[in-house]
Amino acid sequence: MDNTDWINRSRAAVWHPCTQMKQHDTGALPLVPIDRGQGAWLYDFAGRRYLDAISSWWVNLFGHAHPRINAAVKDQLDRLEHVILGGFTHGPVVELSERLSALTGGALGHCFYASDGSSAVEIALKMSFHYWRNHGQPEKNQFLCLASSYHGETLGTLSVGDVGLYKDAYAPLLRQAATVPSPDARQAAAGETAADCARRVATALEAYLAVHHSSIAALILEPLVQGAGGMVMYDPEYLRLARARCDRYQVHLIADEIMVGFGRTGTLFAHEQAGIRPDLLCLSKGLTGGYLPLSVVMSTDEMFAAFYDDAITRGFLHSHSYTGNPLACRAALATLDIFAEDAVLERNRRFAERFTALLEPLVKHPQARHFRHCGMIWAVDIATDDPEFRLKFYREALQRELLLRPLGTTIYFMPPYILDDTEATLLAEGAVAALEAALEGSSRPLGEGLGVKA
Ligand SMILES: *Cc1c(COP(=O)(O)O)cnc(C)c1O
Repeated sequence: MDNTDWINRSRAAVWHPCTQMKQHDTGALPLVPIDRGQGAWLYDFAGRRYLDAISSWWVNLFGHAHPRINAAVKDQLDRLEHVILGGFTHGPVVELSERLSALTGGALGHCFYASDGSSAVEIALKMSFHYWRNHGQPEKNQFLCLASSYHGETLGTLSVGDVGLYKDAYAPLLRQAATVPSPDARQAAAGETAADCARRVATALEAYLAVHHSSIAALILEPLVQGAGGMVMYDPEYLRLARARCDRYQVHLIADEIMVGFGRTGTLFAHEQAGIRPDLLCLSKGLTGGYLPLSVVMSTDEMFAAFYDDAITRGFLHSHSYTGNPLACRAALATLDIFAEDAVLERNRRFAERFTALLEPLVKHPQARHFRHCGMIWAVDIATDDPEFRLKFYREALQRELLLRPLGTTIYFMPPYILDDTEATLLAEGAVAALEAALEGSSRPLGEGLGVKA
């Protein structure tokens, strides 16, 4: 089977996510068949390669086919592939829960598992409401979120999100959460620091909670970087203030670290940079190093205690079939081992300095605006009215062996933590070249194997 065969069969049988399928048929959005992955590279069936500069939808931390994660999953496969977690337990889920808790300094003592990020957010929302219900305050049944937030695409998570592209069609189905302004540092006034901006924007949160706190169960936010909303970055000061306001008004703070967790922002968890802890922490994407679907909601012992009772209905009666899957837990344990053994955060700091310098030509491009950087995430907005910019840039990047998917007119980089200097240079130089070509509108014809209809 060659590239074209896989493309044609996929177009006929697979309904691809987040995609207008017609664009795969017209070639506007080339469908790229992948045979195998190694390190930061993906290879198609003709041996053509792509640098995975977005970590395959923000999940892959240490590259593809990592020997230590592969070995852990293979070992687990011969021991126990899966077992019901209701009434049963197993080594990997116990060890993973203990180690995750230790990584929060014991502040979040219990782990509740699901298989994807959206389910983790659903769990956190249900837990928060149910906590207040068990406390005799069922009227605390509303949620508060930030403008530009993204927490997933199920009905419950869309209702606490603010990305119209994913949400607007389903508005009649949603019980919309209240929204307060985002502390987006791009909105800092002249002479204002990002921290000043965060303090100014937090007054809206304060004002909202002062009036409505008795009906609000939780504030949910993405610490430091709002991902799918456009790689919006903000100062940790906002998190400190949000924590203080939530304490004052008896509202839970849910940290959705599904994207920013596991070193993405420079610290293991993003909320650490504000010196705070949330009441509920949602983790997924990088949790298994990008290997297997797994998510977890970590809760304080106080949260857990509110459900601990003789009455079954005071318990948290939520479950998913693959909850705590042992293979996924072993991949997660191997991922935590790599963090512990390889000084990953230090290496990333050094890499980030070099890569930021390499991006200078992109930052200085006359149509580049608001370059921003946090840990292992870089983003820049491109001033263009071209509604096709996103697709043009995507195709031009693929032509240069790069997998980069702009969010609207925002180009971002979220590479795995293993790029060497050659790969970093290729990425930075290829991105500027792709930008220039996309803006010229002189898109070269698509190459063989890049989704052209046979
Ligand atoms: C990706 C993401 C989710 C949803 O996770 P899925 O596994 O795609 O359901 C939720 N919140 C944030 C911040 C995310 O980036």
